[in-house]
Amino acid sequence: MSRRKLVAGNWKMHGTSADLGEVRGIAEAARRLDGQVDVALCVPATLIHRAAEGVPGFAIGAQDIHMADKGAHTGDICAAMLHDAGARLTIVGHSERRDAHREDDTTVRAKAEAALRSGLKVILCVGESDAERDAGRALEVVTAQLRASLPSEGATAVNFAVAYEPIWAIGTGKVPVTHDIAEMHAALRATLVEALGEEGAGVRLLYGGSVKASNAAEIFAVEDVDGALVGGASLTAADFVPIVEAAAA
Ligand code: PEP
Repeated sequence: MSRRKLVAGNWKMHGTSADLGEVRGIAEAARRLDGQVDVALCVPATLIHRAAEGVPGFAIGAQDIHMADKGAHTGDICAAMLHDAGARLTIVGHSERRDAHREDDTTVRAKAEAALRSGLKVILCVGESDAERDAGRALEVVTAQLRASLPSEGATAVNFAVAYEPIWAIGTGKVPVTHDIAEMHAALRATLVEALGEEGAGVRLLYGGSVKASNAAEIFAVEDVDGALVGGASLTAADFVPIVEAAAA
């Protein structure tokens, strides 16, 4: 099945109003390559409204949401608020949140379901640690993570994507060999089809972890890699646009 590639940036805790020019530069490239590749940028919550207003039609996203629709949750932000601010998608289950905020699969699933209920598209992250890979347990751990964090309803090929992000590859400059990426993506594809039937064949499977302009083309050529989730190299248009162009090629 042919799936148009999706390249999403994750700015993490980087970016203030001084960086809105980078958002405009990235959105401009997305407009130029419209129809060849889908592009999204997940900025800090404080920038969502200004970023979205500055680049109408471009997909600005959040990096996390609260699982409840509203309530007494000091400091948290719910899906409806992010949607109202201009977000059109959100990441859930990033390993930095699973680790630093002790988010387990049940929490991640609830967050994905809350996002879909509010009309936000979802990028759900899964990935193994280096110890799990060294122990030969990567496939088992990551497919189990996907099964347990998959929304119980509402996920479609249009509103839902999965990002395979080996934890040891995030921000380290290390990237799995293409054979390992292909093997993992095939296992995740099978898991998606098992859980979602036909729809699972259309869900995009992104790779994330130290993607750069210099390795993007090789990664995008791997079977069942339908795009990328990019951290460090998404912070500037100069670094991110060549990755987007590689996906469009
Ligand atoms: C990420 O954190 O989602 C990520 C892939 O980061 P980096 O590209 O910097 O490894």
